[in-house]
Amino acid sequence: MHSPSIAILGAGLSGLYAATLLSQRGQHDVVLLEARAGPGGRILSVPARADGSDLPHDRVDLGPSWFWPHSQPQLDALIAALGLARFAQPEDGDMRVERSLREGVLTVRGYANWPPSMRLAGGMAALTDALLARLPPGCLHTDRAVRALRCNDKGIEVEAVDAAGRLHHWQVNQVLLALPPRLAAQRIAFEPGLPPTLLRQWLATPTWMAPHAKYVAVYPTPFWREQGLSGEARSALGPLGEIHDASTPGGSAALFGFVGVPARTRQALAPDALRAACREQLARLFGPQAAQPLSDYLQDWAQEPCTATPADFDSAGQHAVAPPSRAGEGPWRERLIGIGSEWSRQFPGYVAGAVEAAGEGVGLATGTGGRPASP
Ligand SMILES: Cc1cc2nc3c(=O)[nH]c(=O)nc-3n(C[C@H](O)[C@H](O)[C@H](O)COP(=O)(O)OP(=O)(O)OC[C@H]3O[C@@H](n4cnc5c(N)ncnc54)[C@H](O)[C@@H]3O)c2cc1C
Repeated sequence: MHSPSIAILGAGLSGLYAATLLSQRGQHDVVLLEARAGPGGRILSVPARADGSDLPHDRVDLGPSWFWPHSQPQLDALIAALGLARFAQPEDGDMRVERSLREGVLTVRGYANWPPSMRLAGGMAALTDALLARLPPGCLHTDRAVRALRCNDKGIEVEAVDAAGRLHHWQVNQVLLALPPRLAAQRIAFEPGLPPTLLRQWLATPTWMAPHAKYVAVYPTPFWREQGLSGEARSALGPLGEIHDASTPGGSAALFGFVGVPARTRQALAPDALRAACREQLARLFGPQAAQPLSDYLQDWAQEPCTATPADFDSAGQHAVAPPSRAGEGPWRERLIGIGSEWSRQFPGYVAGAVEAAGEGVGLATGTGGRPASP
């Protein structure tokens, strides 16, 4: 059995950031365990063109796209320290609206958000890629789904299972839970059990965006701009409820939308039928060119067992109030800390929340508290 001093469960943004902070503070005996085949979690940027004919960093986001530097200074500072290029969400032009079949599609004056929502060149995964490049060698273990944590007199035994069903064990002093609280409470067996009130609070915390699905269509040119349109649309008819421009400067032109069909209904639909309905809707809103993307993607987060649980299917998608990140008493108090985004007090569920919660958790785990330094 390996004996690092800290195990971080989950290699999404919070886990990757915590691991780089610990390494920066000289704590190298850390293991980062990820259930999926690769890191990133809800941050998922994929090549814009499915045939691979694009520039290496021409990517579209199937998870988060935006951040708001003016109100999220810690995330802003991290992005700046990592040297990542940013740009404002394109919003110039009119907007398309469809409220009913009878009324048809309307063009209304668009509006620009101020301050603008910002995006990263290369997609939001530019952030997780940069952190990944700073991890100590051998720290990250993918295909390790943690299923049990056993508190014993030496610390905590961590038990993970890989895709082939093989078990892996680590003995550690502390565990940082870098995954949503509801997922941790539901998928991991704690021995002894967590305090019942804490367990209830974690189970009751919705995972932000877990019930959602995102559709992205990539085109040779942003043809909607020639018609004076911004690429923004709102629709009461669906399947997409809210549509935005997903183009990247110097890269591909693209539109994306959040699917308005509820998670349980989507479960019964064939993904190809839903994609076809999305293409049809984009053609209705932006003209026939929109029916023929170079490539298109449908990412249903509710169907991802490493993000969503059945309880998330019926969630309204609201931001939760952060639950306590650790037990108030008992054997888990000094050994287990929640650091996923939903534990953030200021930005629960957001990208900025993952950075805030991880920074605070590392401060608690190392007894250094305060604001963490940037990598
Ligand atoms: C469609 C969508 C759009 C979004 N848009 C925005 C946006 O525009 N702006 C914004 O600020 N936020 C947005 N978000 C939210 C943002 O993505 C999250 O706040 C952030 O990525 C959370 O990071 P995290 O590390 O806390 O959790 P996650 O990214 O969920 O990472 C948790 C990790 O734990 C792993 N894991 C799960 N179970 C286990 C286990 N048993 N053992 C080991 N590993 C495990 C998972 O595979 C995952 O890699 C969006 C999310 C989605 C899905």
